[in-house]
Amino acid sequence: MHREVRVSEQNTNSGAEQNVSGLSERKNSGLAGKIALVTGASQGIGRACALELARSGATVALAARSLAKLEAVAAEIVAAGGQARAFSLDVSTEESIKACAKIVLAELGKVEILVNNAGVTRDGLTLRMKLADFDDVLRTNLTGAFLLTQAVISSMMKGRWGRVINITSVVGETGAAGQANYAASKAGLIGLTKSLAREFASRGITVNAIAPGFIQTAMTNDLPEAHKAGILAQIPLARYGNEHDIAAAAAFLASDAAGYITGHTLDVNGGMYMG
Ligand code: NAP
Repeated sequence: MHREVRVSEQNTNSGAEQNVSGLSERKNSGLAGKIALVTGASQGIGRACALELARSGATVALAARSLAKLEAVAAEIVAAGGQARAFSLDVSTEESIKACAKIVLAELGKVEILVNNAGVTRDGLTLRMKLADFDDVLRTNLTGAFLLTQAVISSMMKGRWGRVINITSVVGETGAAGQANYAASKAGLIGLTKSLAREFASRGITVNAIAPGFIQTAMTNDLPEAHKAGILAQIPLARYGNEHDIAAAAAFLASDAAGYITGHTLDVNGGMYMG
């Protein structure tokens, strides 16, 4: 990343004035010096977001329950010339969220970009769904995002700059049979996003959501092939999404280029739902 910036500088300095302003724009859209915290960074979409933010120059705090996997992702980032640290976090408990926020703030000094990505499914038809499966999904996907935002947002307020990016789902917009718990949690994240956007706008903090469609990760790997084929048939771009599609959107929303966007839900779904 740093090498790329230097190459751009050399090209720009030998070029026209127009290019000089282009360089300053690029520098403004980079995340060098920013501190990001990504939950669920041990695999899938969260890992890809962490790698992309690190590639944009941010120092990334990687958080999830599987510390060994996080350390492997951190090592990957460091080997590529970036900066990352692994932190143990269970977003389903307030105690763990508070402890993690405290240690990240103590060790990295601040959190300026928060990606609330950790999420789980416990699918089942409503008539058979256990209360525990409803509660677990709400607590992890929605309450966890609320509590972690609450725990780190003062740090953004102090710097009068911040980005909160909540990973919701197309299912939060459309609903899905067999996913009442998951859809409710993801729809809740959209309401949370809009409310936080209104509360913190005056502090220079934007709050947005990304609503992925069907992304090929561990979360979707085990779905029956017939079900996957049925989803594919509903995607105008005629392919499943991958984690890089979501990471690119997260890096954009974190950048200064997205500074006038807040309270928005960005659909990254190949056209399967057009809100
Ligand atoms: P994934 O591969 O299953 O990854 C989920 C991540 O969340 C893992 O890193 C997991 O890490 C973490 N996590 C789960 N429970 C946690 C907890 N209690 N505390 C902390 N971390 C926890 O799924 P994914 O596809 O990358 O999904 C990432 C996000 O995108 C989720 O919010 C999901 O709902 C959303 N999404 C996915 C799709 C899709 O098609 N894949 C579509 C729409 C939205 P540990 O197990 O190490 O804790």
